[in-house]
Amino acid sequence: MGTVEQTHQAPHVLVVILSIQGHINPMLQFSKRLFSKGIRVRLAITISVAKSMHTKICPNIISVDTFSDGYDNGIKKEDKIESYIERSKLVGSQTLGDLIKKQESLGNPITCVVYDSFYPWVLDVAKQFNLPVASFFTQSCAVCNIYYHVQQGLLKVPVAGPMVSIPGLPPLAIADLPSFVSVYESHPGIRTIMLNQFSNIDKADWLLFNTFDKLENEVVSWMSNLWPIKTVGPTVPSIYLDKRIEGDKDYGLDLFKPSNEICMNWLNMRETNSVIYVSFGSNVSLGEEQMKEIALALKEGNKYFLWVVRESEERKLPSDFAEETFEKGLVVQWCPQLEVLSHKAVACFITHCGWNSTLESLCLGIPMVGLPKWTDQTTNAKFVEDEWEVGLRIKVEENGIWRKEEIEACIREVTEGEKGKEMRKNCNRWKELAKEAVDEGGSSDKNIEDFIQSMLCTLR
Ligand code: UDP
Repeated sequence: MGTVEQTHQAPHVLVVILSIQGHINPMLQFSKRLFSKGIRVRLAITISVAKSMHTKICPNIISVDTFSDGYDNGIKKEDKIESYIERSKLVGSQTLGDLIKKQESLGNPITCVVYDSFYPWVLDVAKQFNLPVASFFTQSCAVCNIYYHVQQGLLKVPVAGPMVSIPGLPPLAIADLPSFVSVYESHPGIRTIMLNQFSNIDKADWLLFNTFDKLENEVVSWMSNLWPIKTVGPTVPSIYLDKRIEGDKDYGLDLFKPSNEICMNWLNMRETNSVIYVSFGSNVSLGEEQMKEIALALKEGNKYFLWVVRESEERKLPSDFAEETFEKGLVVQWCPQLEVLSHKAVACFITHCGWNSTLESLCLGIPMVGLPKWTDQTTNAKFVEDEWEVGLRIKVEENGIWRKEEIEACIREVTEGEKGKEMRKNCNRWKELAKEAVDEGGSSDKNIEDFIQSMLCTLR
């Protein structure tokens, strides 16, 4: 199948993105894939994202518009999630509708909407304008299937254990479920967002998932019986996989300022497989006691380390940690994660198992030590250890703390043990399969082509 000619007649897709780094990256990357196939893409980002971004989004190829979700200065700690759900829907429906009308009045009408599944109200806005619409899920199919079962009342909560059986998934222990399901009393507001993804999903024309068929084979097949599902991932920049999109080497929109040069210069001085990379993504917040356990494990271990500690977390580091470890470690507030993971010096990734980080590690062939804290991370860590066999999930104490000894033991096993060697082999196998999926004619590539063809049919 060929590329659609990028003319004024080509589909004009509005991609509506949520203000969180882990949601921006996959949707932006998917947009670049669409663009590379001749589709005109217009990103709708919130005013708060526009205010805090540190990089320009692919200038010259993707148009960017802003809309207000009612939180133009970002969401504050004191804001209640329940109010956020209400207000973003109310204000967002209005401002996004205005944006669609504006394009119409400029003679450049939107012909399809792709929205982040955490914003189910966008589907209703699109339908008011009679536009075809795709819901984009930024979490794994497995996790979404669990939420769907809770939303439908098919999985009763609080969950009675010890094991749970859900179609398309391996048997899961309670601790393997997303935290909003396993610890039912926690974060009811966020749980509502997770379950609301399915509140109006039957009206969606397509469901797009940042995953690939071979990675989540059974659950993808099972869910395909319910909805028009298309796996379109992994949405990792093209240079790391198929190399078909020229110059596509990073996502291109950072909400945190990365220390690119410092990190890469530091890594360039290290030997192959000598560095542990540690990051908890853009959201996880750890307690002081937990930070100390990690700090001690890194300080006393026999490897170098590169640790991302966001500005808001820095004060929890043991005092003098940076001075005491300056010969073996580097602590930065944000790094170019893909470049880091693809550097030959990196031996292992200590990760919170956010879905993007998990996919990135898998695609770049780096085995993981999973320290999942909450949300979907626990389920991802289960799959990393038991299904894909590309890492270990750390044991957690009753009080939720990961101890230094356990962290050290996992690092040793992954970097020096027999299991670690197997994990590396498995990682390389997954890396090849991920590449195959997005390469020409691969399952995700075909799904994107099919999506484009069906979009074209709606234009005729
Ligand atoms: N990331 C990055 N630099 C960092 C830490 C993270 O660029 O120092 C990126 C990472 O590559 C990933 C995203 O931020 O694409 C985090 O998404 P993920 O789903 O892993 O976690 P979340 O932040 O949503 O918890």
